[in-house]
Amino acid sequence: MKFKLPCETLTKQGKRPCRAPGIVMKNGRIRCKVHGGYSTGPKTKEGKARSANNIIKYNDQRASNKRQINEQDL
Ligand SMILES: [Zn+2]
Repeated sequence: MKFKLPCETLTKQGKRPCRAPGIVMKNGRIRCKVHGGYSTGPKTKEGKARSANNIIKYNDQRASNKRQINEQDL
């Protein structure tokens, strides 16, 4: 892996570019290790299933959090 190109991600602080040394991703964007440059996503069937489960879990959590907030408002 080459680590020479500057990361294109905008940081939260003042929306400046990250500029840490990164790699070119599949989609053509440059990402450093902090912004997902190392990750290539789940490869095995088990890994894909686990990641899908995480999304379901997250959505459930978000839905329940929303409900709690609404109840507090009332
Ligand atoms: Zn970065």
